[in-house]
Amino acid sequence: MIDPDKIKKSQVKKLLILLEQWTRYEVVSRLAPIEKLEYGDAFAEMIKKENEIREMLYGTSNFVELGDAWNILRPRKKKRKTKLYCSICGRVQYDTTSGYTCKKGHGGAESLSKKEKRKKFPKKKK
Ligand SMILES: [Zn+2]
Repeated sequence: MIDPDKIKKSQVKKLLILLEQWTRYEVVSRLAPIEKLEYGDAFAEMIKKENEIREMLYGTSNFVELGDAWNILRPRKKKRKTKLYCSICGRVQYDTTSGYTCKKGHGGAESLSKKEKRKKFPKKKK
């Protein structure tokens, strides 16, 4: 993986060349007339160039490895707390893959703002 702060001039040059080659192959594969058979492999060449660029930048062009390294293939483990509250029980709502829910599992319950929550669920006096 290339560190943006430590990239060498030779790496920048190589990257610029790869980007131009990749772009040229993409232009040909998208726009060249179909009867130009010599351009037949442009799409395959474009994919090869994309992979070369990824290998140079990230050390691999394997999507599974990249997705794993970037933790984007697995569902989010941690539920993200929102600033909204459950209209059924007044607890904070979490943003999950299946929508907003509270700790009690009131999935899909209407969301309340903090102000609305305070109004609907006033603090009990001890
Ligand atoms: Zn609730």
